[in-house]
Amino acid sequence: MTPTLTNAKTPAINALSFGAGVQSSALLLMSAHGLLPRIDYAAFADTGWERPETYAALDRLENEVAKPAGIEIVRLRAGDIRRDALDPNSRFSTMPLFIRNRDGSKGMLRRQCTSTYKIKILLAEARRRLGAEVFDDGRVGRVKRGQSLSMWVGISSDEFHRAKDSGVKYAVNTFPLLELGLTRADTQAYLDQHGFAAVSKSACIGCPYTSNAGWRRLRDDQPEQWNEAVEFDHAIRAGNARANANGRPLLGQAFLHPSLLPLDEAPIDAPPQRRHLRIVGQNESVDWENGDPDGCSPWACRSGQPEQPPGFSEVAA
Ligand code: SF4
Repeated sequence: MTPTLTNAKTPAINALSFGAGVQSSALLLMSAHGLLPRIDYAAFADTGWERPETYAALDRLENEVAKPAGIEIVRLRAGDIRRDALDPNSRFSTMPLFIRNRDGSKGMLRRQCTSTYKIKILLAEARRRLGAEVFDDGRVGRVKRGQSLSMWVGISSDEFHRAKDSGVKYAVNTFPLLELGLTRADTQAYLDQHGFAAVSKSACIGCPYTSNAGWRRLRDDQPEQWNEAVEFDHAIRAGNARANANGRPLLGQAFLHPSLLPLDEAPIDAPPQRRHLRIVGQNESVDWENGDPDGCSPWACRSGQPEQPPGFSEVAA
């Protein structure tokens, strides 16, 4: 029997916020298999600098799961996060870069990228689906009062604290995995069972939230992408190009790694007992070795309050 989802009773449209990671991929499969109500569309917000395995998983899930089930996958893009950071003529929303301030204190830029490159375009697509006007320049207008759709977000029961509202009335965030009481392990098992064991979290190649383990994997397994990240890290030392061109230079130096060292010199290979100490001062509660298992998910994990390691304070861009 197809389970009924609380928020899916009212809205006529079921949308999936689709990152091609473990939980949202499990939701796509469950919907395609009839274990959950039918998704009308799954929206992938592409920052332009996702990992090759994310694009590969997206293609495979589209061809082998979504298309046969008649589920549309829509790829949305607000720009190219890497190019935009380096181009003085591009609009840029700051990444959560680690900053060494001029007085030697540590900071972290306020994260705007998840909102610009993911949430805003997912919501614009939602408004478009709800019949809002699309202007010549691509902007999408408002929805009529009372209209809404159900936005499925992949949060498992062991991570319920990550569940957040969308912040707008016309997109009602819905958490099918929570309602079904499924854990992350359950969703991974479901993917394994259906031949999608290799699905991994989605995140930008040069995301400052990348854990030490993630950087080592990139360096050891994907040298081309590692070189991109190292090059980018060097290029953003003085902050983003647009701000500098507009006379708002960064008052300090920016880094991708919280050690405030160039990425290719950062202590990503330090013995485990030293990684926390070197990276976040004396506080060992931040797991920078393994990082966050979920990557950059709109309306989950990092899209809420900025997460800064102890000892880092927020720095305005
Ligand atoms: S993965 Fe990181 S850099 Fe990319 S949008 Fe998310 S928070 Fe920003």
